[in-house]
Amino acid sequence: PRKKEKLGVALVGLGGYSRGRLAPGLQKTEHCELRGIVTGSPEKIPVWQNKYNIPDANVYSYDTMHELANNDDIDIVYIVVPTGLHAKYSIRAAEAGKHVWCEKPMAMDVEECQSIIDATNKNGVQLSIGYRMQHEPNTKTIMKYAEEETYGAVTGVKTGAGYNGSHPEGDWRLDAELGGGALYDMGVYPINAARYSTQMEPIAVSGKQSTKRPEMFHEVDETTVFELEFPGGVMAQGETSFGKSMNYLDVDCTDGWYNLRPFQSYSGVQGETSDGMQLPPDPNHQQARQMDNEALAIKEGRAPIVPGSEGLKDIRIVRAIMESSEKDEARIE
Ligand code: NDP
Repeated sequence: PRKKEKLGVALVGLGGYSRGRLAPGLQKTEHCELRGIVTGSPEKIPVWQNKYNIPDANVYSYDTMHELANNDDIDIVYIVVPTGLHAKYSIRAAEAGKHVWCEKPMAMDVEECQSIIDATNKNGVQLSIGYRMQHEPNTKTIMKYAEEETYGAVTGVKTGAGYNGSHPEGDWRLDAELGGGALYDMGVYPINAARYSTQMEPIAVSGKQSTKRPEMFHEVDETTVFELEFPGGVMAQGETSFGKSMNYLDVDCTDGWYNLRPFQSYSGVQGETSDGMQLPPDPNHQQARQMDNEALAIKEGRAPIVPGSEGLKDIRIVRAIMESSEKDEARIE
C-alpha cells in the first residue's frame, strides 16, 4: 500500500521549528511525508489538520501518544519539543515501536542520551538526531578534507554560533530544567562542528559561562566560551551566545585553510579555501534533505547518517563545559 512508497512521519510538538521548517520540508520529501501530529495545544489541531490534510485518526496528545503503537500509518516519530522533554517522548515513541528522530541537542545529560539509545535498541527501531549540517554538501566536503588531509592535517579550529535576541519571560529557552541557555541551544553547533571538522574526539574540555543580562538569563547561560583539546595538541576554540550574532567555522591545516561562513544557516552554508576555491551555498531545503536521507536509510535497512551516539558525544562535552565553568567560579570565590 501507500506505506511502501513513503514513510509516515508524526511530528511531536508543533512549535516554531515544526511549523516553520519541518512541516514545510515534509512537503518536499521523496521518501517520507507528514501524516500525524502529537500536540498539547488543542487549538493547533484544526489548523494543522486543514493545512496538511491530517486525518483524525493520526492526531494525538502527549498522553495518548503511546497509542501510536496501533497506527500503521506512522513509521517515524519526530521529537520537536523543548530539550528537557526529548528523552521522555523519544522513549515513549520507541516503546510504541516507531523509529525515532530526535531534535538537537539530544537530551540533558549523558544518562538521558543513553536511555534513548537503549530504548530504541531494545525496541528494534532506528534513532537519528536532527543535525541538519551533517547532510549539507559543503559541510560534507570539509569533513572529507579532514579525513583525506586535502590541505594537510587539521591544526586548529575556531567556531561560533549565536544570535542577538531576547526571549520572553516563561520561554523554555530561559529555563534550566527544559534545556534552555545558549550552550544547549546553539553551542551544540560549534561543538559538533569542532568534532566533524577534525574527525576527532576531544581529550580535554574547558569553558566559561556568563551573562550580561542577568534579568533575563538568571537560570541559564547567555554566553559560553570553550576550548576543546584534540589528540596531537589540536585545539578548537568555540563560542556561543544569545547576545551576539555569529556563524563561522574556520579550519587551519598544515598546508592551508578553509572556512564555512555561515556554517549553520537554513538559507545555505558557504565557504572558501586558501587556494581560492569557493564553496557556494546549496539551494536545497536542508530539513527536507536531512529527513529524506534518514528515511531512505530506514527503508534500505542501513544505519542512520546521524546516529544517537553523535548527540551523546556532544552532550558529554556540553556537561564537561558546564562543570569546568562551575569549578572555575568556585576557585575565584
Ligand atoms: P518552540 O518553543 O517554538 O516549540 C516547542 C513546542 O514544544 C511547543 O510549541 C509545544 O508544542 C511543545 N511543548 C511541549 N511541552 C512544552 C513545554 N513544557 N514548554 C514549551 N513547549 C512545550 O521551540 P522550537 O520549535 O524552536 O524548538 C523545539 C526543538 O527543536 C528544540 O529541541 C530545539 O533545540 C530544536 N530546534 C532545532 C533546530 C534545528 O535547526 N535543528 C532549530 C530550532 C529548534 P505543542 O503546543 O504542539 O504541544
